[in-house]
Amino acid sequence: MHILLIEDEIALAEEICQSLRKQNYAVSHLTLGKQAILAARNGDIDLMILDLGLPDVDGLQVLTSIRELGLTLPILILTARGQLSDKIIGLDAGADDYLPKPFELDELLVRLRVLQRRLGSVVTSTIRLGHVQLHTDSLLVLLDEVALQLPKKEFMILRALMERADRIVSKSQLETMLYEWGGEVSSNAIEVHVHNLRKKLPEGFIQTIRGVGYCIKKEYPIST
Ligand code: CA
Repeated sequence: MHILLIEDEIALAEEICQSLRKQNYAVSHLTLGKQAILAARNGDIDLMILDLGLPDVDGLQVLTSIRELGLTLPILILTARGQLSDKIIGLDAGADDYLPKPFELDELLVRLRVLQRRLGSVVTSTIRLGHVQLHTDSLLVLLDEVALQLPKKEFMILRALMERADRIVSKSQLETMLYEWGGEVSSNAIEVHVHNLRKKLPEGFIQTIRGVGYCIKKEYPIST
């Protein structure tokens, strides 16, 4: 789950990023509206938290532009504009939710969980592929109902691959995600983590697509 936060108040942005990372979201942060539109176009974002009062383009314009591009990613507006009329304008312009500042972080988190549930990719908090079952919220991975002890970064990589089953995830995408989860990323980190994961998972579960990246197949054979 990759969240992009658009917020020009740096202290607030850092606070939000920190608490989202504690909840195991991958978070990146930008301060300008134009950057937000570009990032949404480039894809690889599951959800956007959007401030309206931005230094370059008004957040409402950002929202309108993103919707005009036909992009449907969930967008939660987080703004000091707290009037009912503002809320109506924001939701009518294509926002999925609207949270006025000041707000409680817990309320932001619960609203994100609601949006996340609506996303088709993660309908429930459990993903099961073959013998492997992963609980997205609790860092728990079960292999044939036996719990595996995975360090956080290995869990994050496995979750990213399982959430994108049947799709190829490139090494650089995984590096970016690790970085956004707030970890140091050394040059061969991904290979090392995948190597360690493979020792704990059924043979062939994580496939290497040479020169492209990694993939976990939905139709992974049941017999190992
Ligand atoms: Ca602002």
